[in-house]
Amino acid sequence: MKSVFSQRQLLHTPSKELSDGEMRPAVELPARAEYVRDRILEVGLGEIVEPSTFGRAPLERVHTTDYLDFMDGFHAMHEAAGRSGEAFPFCWPTKGLRCDVTPRHIDGLLGRYSFDAGTPIGPMSWEAAKISADTALTAARMIAEGAPVAFALCRPPGHHAMTDRFGGYCFLNNAAIAAQYLRDQGAERVTILDVDYHHGNGTQQIFYERGDVQFLSLHADPAEEYPYFLGYADEIGEGEGEGANYNWPMPLGTDWAGWGASLDEACKRAASFGTDTLVVSLGLDPFERDPISKFKLKSDDFTRIGARIRKLGLPTLFVMEGGYAIDALGVNCVNVLTGFEGA
Ligand SMILES: [Zn+2]
Repeated sequence: MKSVFSQRQLLHTPSKELSDGEMRPAVELPARAEYVRDRILEVGLGEIVEPSTFGRAPLERVHTTDYLDFMDGFHAMHEAAGRSGEAFPFCWPTKGLRCDVTPRHIDGLLGRYSFDAGTPIGPMSWEAAKISADTALTAARMIAEGAPVAFALCRPPGHHAMTDRFGGYCFLNNAAIAAQYLRDQGAERVTILDVDYHHGNGTQQIFYERGDVQFLSLHADPAEEYPYFLGYADEIGEGEGEGANYNWPMPLGTDWAGWGASLDEACKRAASFGTDTLVVSLGLDPFERDPISKFKLKSDDFTRIGARIRKLGLPTLFVMEGGYAIDALGVNCVNVLTGFEGA
């Protein structure tokens, strides 16, 4: 299978993040993508191609123009404010505050267009995020043109990014942008299967009232784990989207026995939706040695994930999301892809 990747996605170089009440070394590092790229080359998975530039139009199909304008202009605003280093929001328009005003101050705007303090913005972060979205779009175009499978080696990840808010290391929702692009290219029904350890709150929010894009997410129980405020089992979609959203929150410590059973249920939901194209939000953080996660999947289990997904018999776009056990990321990610190809 072909993969898509650009070195320019490594321009986003966060140095620290707010964790356990301290500023600690960031975990969403450029080396994550390099380990995956190196493993693709090592096993001879297939050609790695550079992403094309798609411009702003496909981003606007998912994100609001004011959010994209804010991000486009953020670095200049940051410099004009006399600031250097990384930007962190710290004040948000939660319930009881006004959500219908857009402040002029940079910290007000940072709060308006984010939902957490976990996503440092450096000088090249937005550039890397746009190239990451182009990576997903280039791989999606391969699927639209008839490829049975493609892998978008996206970094930074995307599934936490909402229509108009960044967060959870994510700026642009790569999987959602790809899914919408596939719809626009003629796919009637698209399923997004999110296997990241954390709930894909952004993807759920984007498609929550849509009946043409199904969202299925396997993740740690949000009562115990980030993002805490979305990802519960009773969120089934609204309006035309009712019945097109399913969450499988699982207890901390879940291993393949429980996780694989949930995957099986999700695959049955995808099959009964009548989907014609599958997008997999491929997080590798359910891994037992992941430093920020608490599931117990082993490297061989990732091969099983690929094989189970292949059984659906659908054109499949894999989009990389999280995963922070950096030295194991290449093996685990490529195990999913070879598991798919070998099944
Ligand atoms: Zn994650």
